[in-house]
Amino acid sequence: MSAQVDTACFNLDQHPCYSIGGSHQYARIHLPIAPRCNIQCNYCNRKYDCVNESRPGVTSRVLSPVQALAYLEEMMEKIPSIRVVGIAGPGDPFANPYETMETLRLVRNRYPDMMLCLASNGLHIGPHIDELVELQVSHVTITMNAVDPAVGGLVYAWARDEGKILKNADAAATLIERQLDAVKRLAAAGILVKVNSIVVPGVNDRHIPEIAKVVKGLGATVMNCIPLCPVQDTPYENLYEPDGIMMARVRLQCCEHVSQMSHCARCRADAVGLLGEDQSVEFAGTLESFTEMNTPIDKTRPYIAVATQEGMLVNLHLGEANNVIVYSHEPETDEYEIVDVRALPGTGGGDDRWKELANTLRDCRALLVSACGPRPKQIIEGFGLVIVEMEGLVEEGLEALFHDEEIPASLQRRFTSCGNGCSGGGNGCS
Ligand code: SF4
Repeated sequence: MSAQVDTACFNLDQHPCYSIGGSHQYARIHLPIAPRCNIQCNYCNRKYDCVNESRPGVTSRVLSPVQALAYLEEMMEKIPSIRVVGIAGPGDPFANPYETMETLRLVRNRYPDMMLCLASNGLHIGPHIDELVELQVSHVTITMNAVDPAVGGLVYAWARDEGKILKNADAAATLIERQLDAVKRLAAAGILVKVNSIVVPGVNDRHIPEIAKVVKGLGATVMNCIPLCPVQDTPYENLYEPDGIMMARVRLQCCEHVSQMSHCARCRADAVGLLGEDQSVEFAGTLESFTEMNTPIDKTRPYIAVATQEGMLVNLHLGEANNVIVYSHEPETDEYEIVDVRALPGTGGGDDRWKELANTLRDCRALLVSACGPRPKQIIEGFGLVIVEMEGLVEEGLEALFHDEEIPASLQRRFTSCGNGCSGGGNGCS
């Protein structure tokens, strides 16, 4: 049998969104680490900066995985009743797969008993399902607004898939295929699958019971029918919000197939607190303060990587380095040993190049380079790998960092311009 999530390890009654009793006592927190989205729904307009709006896709700030863990640690002190950590945007978690998976790893490592929850459109979740199971993610929500591409084509303006932009019904066809596969695989792995459907009057309100029937057959546990919230500057801005009668009718028809959730609070991507008493406005300043946080050296990571031409000097800019040498430190002999020579991702790929680099060096606490542009430095450090700019002997850098000391001031460097072998345009590596 393939790997399973052992939901018996968690007290599911403490998930506020799945237990009405639990919703009065236990809190959840959303970590806003996923800014990009891979589809455009006709009801969605993602704004980052309004603390007064409460709906999915809205957050006041976006954090890196390292910042998100530190923010979570602080919020656990302030709200000890937090039982669930969720990732719900403000874009889609799997349009930001590096950030999402790293955040889940960090949280699982720090809080082994925490329930982990995700909300996704399902387009790109497939390649990550095995690791979600490994990380014991217990709850996944897939937002599905149609199981028929003709209806879906009215809801989705486009979807970005493998570098291609698909429009309307073509976008819907691909999206629906991936969603159905995801619901089936997630449920088969023991994950509790909730399906969210946005009820759009005159577009999909008569079709939603069909979604309920199909997803129940694939193993979904619960469905959450959410009334459209018409948002300014979207194609649906002039539609009306479904009234109570329409919502009651849709839910009644759906509950013939799958149980219905009725206490949804339409949470923000940075929601925190009890379901009915969200505290994201109260803690907006706390969240913002973590966007400024510098990454500390993580001494649980055993190695240090070095960008060097010949192994003697730190003398390559980040963008010039095709490989790095990875060193360990032997405390008994106080010697440094080469454990690996690792290839770095090549040019192109934009920001993903740096996320992949951080992933390649996940066991390294620092990377010594002679220079690094501000953008890659910010991205890489967000994944817990500290960039140290210096020039001089490799051994001097290793000596300082493995002994928790500052790099001598005479060796420290600050980025001023790109190196000869970099493809950067003068503003740093690209
Ligand atoms: S609001 Fe949604 S994503 Fe957040 S904890 Fe509840 S079910 Fe999970």
